[in-house]
Order: sequence, then structure tokens, then C-alpha cells
Amino acid sequence: MKLHTVNTGFFKLDGGAMFGVVPKSIWQKTNPADENNMCTWAMRSLLIEDGNRLILVDTGIGNKQSEKFFSHYYLHGNDSLDSNLHKLGFKREDITDVFLTHLHFDHCGGAIEFDKSKEAYRPAFAHANFWTNERHWQWATVPNAREKASFLSENILPIQESGQLKFLNRSADKMDQSELGFGITFVDGHTDSMMIPRIQYKEKTICFMADLLPSTGHIPLPYVMGYDTRPLITLEEKGKFLKEAADNGYVLVLEHDSVNECCTVTNTEKGIKLDQVFRLDEI
Ligand SMILES: [Zn+2]
Repeated sequence: MKLHTVNTGFFKLDGGAMFGVVPKSIWQKTNPADENNMCTWAMRSLLIEDGNRLILVDTGIGNKQSEKFFSHYYLHGNDSLDSNLHKLGFKREDITDVFLTHLHFDHCGGAIEFDKSKEAYRPAFAHANFWTNERHWQWATVPNAREKASFLSENILPIQESGQLKFLNRSADKMDQSELGFGITFVDGHTDSMMIPRIQYKEKTICFMADLLPSTGHIPLPYVMGYDTRPLITLEEKGKFLKEAADNGYVLVLEHDSVNECCTVTNTEKGIKLDQVFRLDEI
């Protein structure tokens, strides 16, 4: 097995929304905001080479939305899914499975592209199965008013229409082995039934944290995003996950941290703290 991070690009989100109840005077020390109060975030995917399978975990925002839509998110930098897949010697056609932690647009927008010749949406990975779970699918396809702007039907419905949609069965909140060959932790604070992959690699447990821990700046427990639908559940889920990560030396892959790809955490008298930061290819 081989793991790679794939940066699909950088975007900006409102710093206050990203840090919830934490005041700007505190979060801006580690995450400086621009004149519009926006901070830079990565959209980092994970690529898993495992035997005959090439699994992409999350896809970034994609490129099919309108100029107006993208103008709210200030995409910048030279990274893209295609260019960084290419650097690793792969192309989209090689992907056998796309694992979507959840269906918010910055995680799944790249799963679907617009076919200009047919004037229709289609999966951007022609040969892949797209994995989510039934509970999250129901939640995302009949969105509540608060998450409606994050669950875009053009990112979601074409997966089903193509026949490439697959559901992972949530038999427990923590599964040691899924059909994809790795463990999954299901969490419900950020959105309903988000999936956190736990992969055994080089004698370590690698966890792709998605929006349970977007960046190292979110390690302190009260630092919960304003976007989360059930912040008190996030507090509980994050606390439990980080305790387990500190006790067992898990490597946490950070999807949205603009600087740090991976980190470990440690137990201290004052709670869980950041331990090391490093790139995935350094382990
Ligand atoms: Zn999200």
C-alpha cells in the first residue's frame, strides 16, 4: 500500500465561521485574516494505492460552478487535482473508487464535471465507484435550510444517475474494516454521518480527519466550526477521537490546514495539545 496527499487547491472562508465561538483576537494569531476577514484553507485529498485499487478520498471543490459562486471562495494557487494526480503518475481514469467523507461542496465538488457537448453533468471519474452511506445520502439530498448552500444537487444527484453510487453500511459508529479495506469512524456533529477513514500504513494508524479536525488550529476542544450542525456532539466526538489519537500515536491528515499536512497530538495536564507536524511522505 502507498498513501499520498493530493492538494486540489486553496480557497478562503470567513475566519469567524471557521472558529465558531472563539473570538478573532485569539484565532487571528495563528490564522491571520485578510481585509474581508477571510482565511486561507487547503482542500487536500488523500490517494490510496492498494493492490488493484486506487482510492481517492474527497475531491476538492471542482471547476464546474459559476464565476459568481467561485467569487465567494477566492480560489488561488497553482495546485489542482489533475496536475497533482499527474505528478504522482496517475490520471482520473485510473481511479477505481472515490470515497466521499461527506457531500459538502468543498469535499465532493470535483466528483462531478460538466460535459459541454451533452450539456449535462457526469461523474469526473468514469471508472470509479463513489462511496457514501445511506444515512448521509438521505440527509444531503433533502437538505435542511442551514446546510442547503453546502449540499449542491449538481454535485450529488449525477452520482446516482450514473449508476456509480455505492453505500457503505454503517453497522456501528466505529468499524475496524470496511469493504474498502480500512476502518471508518462515523461522526454526526459536523453533519449527519460523516465518515473518517482510519488506514493501517507503515505500522501506524493514519486518520483522514475531514471536518472533524480541519486544521491544527482546531485542536483545542472549544474550537468548533460555526458550520457544524450539532456543535455539542462535535465537542464529544472530537474529544474522544483526539484522546484515542494521543494514546495511540495516530497520524492525523488535515484536509483544510493550509500549511500542515499531518500532525500528531499528545496528552498534557492542560488537555490534548499539538505534538508534531510533518508531511505524509515523511513517515
Ligand atoms: Zn463540511
